Amino acid sequence: MKMRPLGSTGLDVVPVGLGAAQLGSSEYDHSKEIVFRALDLGVNYFDTARGYWDSEIKLGKALKGERENVIVSSKTAGKTKEEAAQHIDESLERLQTDYIDNYHLHALADMDDVDIRLGGPLEALLDAREAGKIRHIGVTGHTDPKVLVAALKRFNFDTFLVPMNIVEREPLAELIPLAIEKKLGVTIMKPVATGLLPAPLALKWLMNQKITVAVPGASTVPEIVQNFGISQLDDYTLTANEEAEVAEWTTKLATERCRICTLCLPCPSDIEIPGTLGTDVIYNHYRSMGPAKFAEFPWETSRVEDEWQDRESLISKIDDHAACDSCMQCESRCPYNLPIVSMLRSMSPSMKNMLDIWSKQGSRV
Ligand code: SF4
Ligand code: SF4
Repeated sequence: MKMRPLGSTGLDVVPVGLGAAQLGSSEYDHSKEIVFRALDLGVNYFDTARGYWDSEIKLGKALKGERENVIVSSKTAGKTKEEAAQHIDESLERLQTDYIDNYHLHALADMDDVDIRLGGPLEALLDAREAGKIRHIGVTGHTDPKVLVAALKRFNFDTFLVPMNIVEREPLAELIPLAIEKKLGVTIMKPVATGLLPAPLALKWLMNQKITVAVPGASTVPEIVQNFGISQLDDYTLTANEEAEVAEWTTKLATERCRICTLCLPCPSDIEIPGTLGTDVIYNHYRSMGPAKFAEFPWETSRVEDEWQDRESLISKIDDHAACDSCMQCESRCPYNLPIVSMLRSMSPSMKNMLDIWSKQGSRV
């Protein structure tokens, strides 16, 4: 089995793990099949978070009996010591375990957030490590990699988690070299740019970078089989054709892929632009599966209920064309020159169809 050392933690990981956010979308039996197949294959890194709906609960249930054989990672977005301490205890309970291998300060947003989160919340993680509740401390960030660089310079984290893929290469400039110097575990989210990139090519490209483990999600068993297969290739060298494809995708997505940097905010209409363009898990399911498979997918009813109102409200804000036409502030702030307004508008028909499909299924309560 091909494995890589997770920084200086003493743990070895298969270089493609399972990102658990998508487990929150489907019924438990479906999620369990994905986790079980991952375990059968030998996947040993499972990355979840309190914020990924009930994925901690599903993962904890599915991993029962295998806990000692796997590495479990979770996260808190708590802003105070008390909140983070409570989150750790809740994660332990939800994951049905008495320790978590790798616990992160989740989604550091900017330099002010570095100050806040490396205060009380970090103290809570240090206390938890002392108490044996967590074993290693990590940090995650989706915005400018300089935020994570600042955090890594202030505290000796064991690992970090950052978005990186063929089109989002910013971490290669400063963050990854710093991680190598500090011998940290480098874990990668959004390796396939939330479904925009073909997974085999995107993961093979990543295997050539100085990373430890990528954590793509999987909404079906064949996806986890395919992703794991890339991690075990004898040779990760890209062929000339693959190099050409990488170059094509880089150009094509340069002005299509939201980097989740948040610089377009605030939006006067209160549209959460990065979350909509860059990290919308349910929309990504729809885009990747197509309407027919979306309709067949075993949706978790409670997830759909939670989703419904927010999705309706988002659609109505996007469809208020007059509001955007008289504003356009976001586009002038986006450093990647994304056509944000037309990108949002292009999502609206699909989002309406998603609600329509759920409505026909009687999923709405
Ligand atoms: S143009 Fe629309 S989406 Fe962009 S900031 Fe203005 S209201 Fe928000
Ligand atoms: S739309 Fe542009 S500015 Fe906004 S988060 Fe995405 S990449 Fe950043």
